[in-house]
Amino acid sequence: MDTSSLQNLATAIKKSSRIVSLTGAGISVASGIPDFRSEGGLWTRYDPSLYASYSKFVEDPSYFWEMHIETMRLIDRARPNPAHRALADLEELGLLKGVITQNIDGLHQDAGTSTVYELHGTNKTSSCIICRRQYPTKEIADHIFSFQKEDLIRKMRRGNEIPACDCGGWIKPDVILFGEKMSHEVAVAAQELASSCDLLLVVGTSLQVQPAASLPFATKHNGGAIAFINREPTFLNRIADHVFLGKAEEILPELVNMLNAAT
Ligand code: NAD
Repeated sequence: MDTSSLQNLATAIKKSSRIVSLTGAGISVASGIPDFRSEGGLWTRYDPSLYASYSKFVEDPSYFWEMHIETMRLIDRARPNPAHRALADLEELGLLKGVITQNIDGLHQDAGTSTVYELHGTNKTSSCIICRRQYPTKEIADHIFSFQKEDLIRKMRRGNEIPACDCGGWIKPDVILFGEKMSHEVAVAAQELASSCDLLLVVGTSLQVQPAASLPFATKHNGGAIAFINREPTFLNRIADHVFLGKAEEILPELVNMLNAAT
């Protein structure tokens, strides 16, 4: 780790008055939830246009469930890692105004961060796609996990055992699928936060999905700086003011140590 560059970032953080973080799947890898696009990731095995499509879910939810059961099991077992805790520490220190995340795992909240905007929804709750009645996903997970996966998907393909509401509508975890509208309030709040911050701390995202991919431009356009912590380079390397290629769970706690040492 380049400690003098990290010290420069710690100094920039001290001088900033409004810091916001934008996170992606990479921040949860150390919690045991692999990202989707890296080798062996879910989207290298399941075509998202079929398995993560809202219109396909409405027609036949078995495809979504075939992929999502794997994610649900991983989320069920996952606990916050040092990177999530470091962001919660930054909020506690009064330095971080909020986290905008593309993740659906709820680990920022579990780590203690109170202001979290979930661009792609959450796996913690599920809703009927017709009457919108909400259920804790845990209730559905307990039923689904009681089957052997292949057996369950065979049943679902025949129209059986698909989680359904009393009104007859399919129940879907509140994660945003392709072709589904994301929350307008969350998108507006994220845009506002990214536009008004003086430092955007971008962590563990390939920035291939909108609107997250545009948020750093909003920060730059309004004169803010960007710090980027990711295992591999992306287009953001060109415009970021501070770039750290490495593991978020190692870099972020070190950054918090430096900030604590300076106080
Ligand atoms: P992505 O898979 O496209 O990119 C993840 C990035 O994180 C990669 O560039 C990778 O190099 C980097 N990375 C991996 N491990 C890292 C580590 N330990 N430290 C720092 N960086 C690391 O993920 P994305 O940009 O968030 O987009 C994927 C979509 O999939 C999002 O919409 C998200 O909702 C969803 N997703 C969510 C979860 C979750 O909730 N934990 C997990 C997988 C995917």
